[in-house]
Amino acid sequence: MRIRTRFAPSPTGNVHIGNIRAAIYNWLFARHEGGEFLLRIEDTDLARSTPEAVRTVLDSLAWLGLTVDNEPLYQSTQRERHLEVAEELLSKGAAYREDRGGTGRGEAVVFKMPGCDITYDDLIKGPITKKAADLKDFVIVRSDGSPVFHLGNVVDDITMGITHVIRGDDHVENTFKHAAMYAAIGAPPPRFAHLPMIVNAQGKPYSKRDGDAYVGEFQEKGFLPEALFNALALLGWSPGDDREILTREEMIEAFTLERVRSSPSQLDMTKLLWFNGQHLKRRAPEEQVAGYVAALRQQGLWREDISEDYLRAVIACMGERVRLYSELGEQAAYFFTEDYVYDEKSVRKRLLKEGALGILREELSALEAVGEPYTAANTEEALRALAEQTGRTMGDMVHPVRVAVSGTAVGPGLFELLATLGRARVLARIRRTLEKFETQE
Ligand code: GLU
Repeated sequence: MRIRTRFAPSPTGNVHIGNIRAAIYNWLFARHEGGEFLLRIEDTDLARSTPEAVRTVLDSLAWLGLTVDNEPLYQSTQRERHLEVAEELLSKGAAYREDRGGTGRGEAVVFKMPGCDITYDDLIKGPITKKAADLKDFVIVRSDGSPVFHLGNVVDDITMGITHVIRGDDHVENTFKHAAMYAAIGAPPPRFAHLPMIVNAQGKPYSKRDGDAYVGEFQEKGFLPEALFNALALLGWSPGDDREILTREEMIEAFTLERVRSSPSQLDMTKLLWFNGQHLKRRAPEEQVAGYVAALRQQGLWREDISEDYLRAVIACMGERVRLYSELGEQAAYFFTEDYVYDEKSVRKRLLKEGALGILREELSALEAVGEPYTAANTEEALRALAEQTGRTMGDMVHPVRVAVSGTAVGPGLFELLATLGRARVLARIRRTLEKFETQE
């Protein structure tokens, strides 16, 4: 049997990460099994299903590399077929007409539940049973003649030959209805796999209020598609070993539904940023450079006379601190401008405290005595020798010079920072800082 999965979003203008994770699992499963991954647009809510909303779905899939094996099937085109099946169910006695709501505007078609308990075997949750008493008949065609979600969803899955329905937890309740419909229609049911929810730190469903929740927001923030893909894939699934950073191919190779957890998965933004940082460092060096240049340009920090070697040295210096291209300029604009901001608190604590500017003066002399090229080793040696001579600690040494050359007390290792900035910048910055603050002392 050829495996066929599908992603069946209702286009609403945004693609929630919970939904795209379902798409990722459907895609990985189909690719792992050598099957097909199909797309169905559930666009029967004509008010919300605008062409832009559909575009957003297609763009999100394309951005994440979720290649689709069919021309998307638009549910709205299947209306005739939905109504035909409703007629068949009526003629079999599996459905009946009823004036629901007593509007007198015509009769709805109601599906008749079989009157027995229903069990289905969820590929993630195991067998689940619902008692006959809790299974009520339900409308499949409204009195205005429009098919209801359950009818369209089941009929389209049959039409498309779907073998595995992998979707969010919120559809477990619907599955008892759907299982009964497959039986009444006389079609073999697909296997169902319901994915646990994505939750926030409080264990509640992750929503917009918790932070970025839509694919487009991550894209705008500068997340890399391979990083978001990887992070979402591991939100509820693991490859069975301790690997966390995986390529698409590695995930295809390792993906099975047995390894999908049945407990909710907590989305942790710090972890997501970590994934991005890891993938960023795996990109080809010239791609990284291009990404950083674009971000710096957007931030107004890029100048054409900045050399690529210098940028590469800055990237190396910042190391794992930078997880998004944009974080370089946010965390360390001082690498790219002489007009960097002096953080007030750092100045108060590190430069204006008793004796700090005196130390900085001595450090200037010590660092003037170090020739080109500045390295982490020779700048450290100079300041260590000064500390010993003057009976001070390295702690006394590092803070004034750090704030002088970067404006802030936080950043990469001081000596890597000095080596990256280079001799000319370091000396000019210390001199300027002394001029600026000696009058304020
Ligand atoms: N349009 C439904 C949704 O987005 C489809 C559910 C399904 O995958 O069957 O929730």
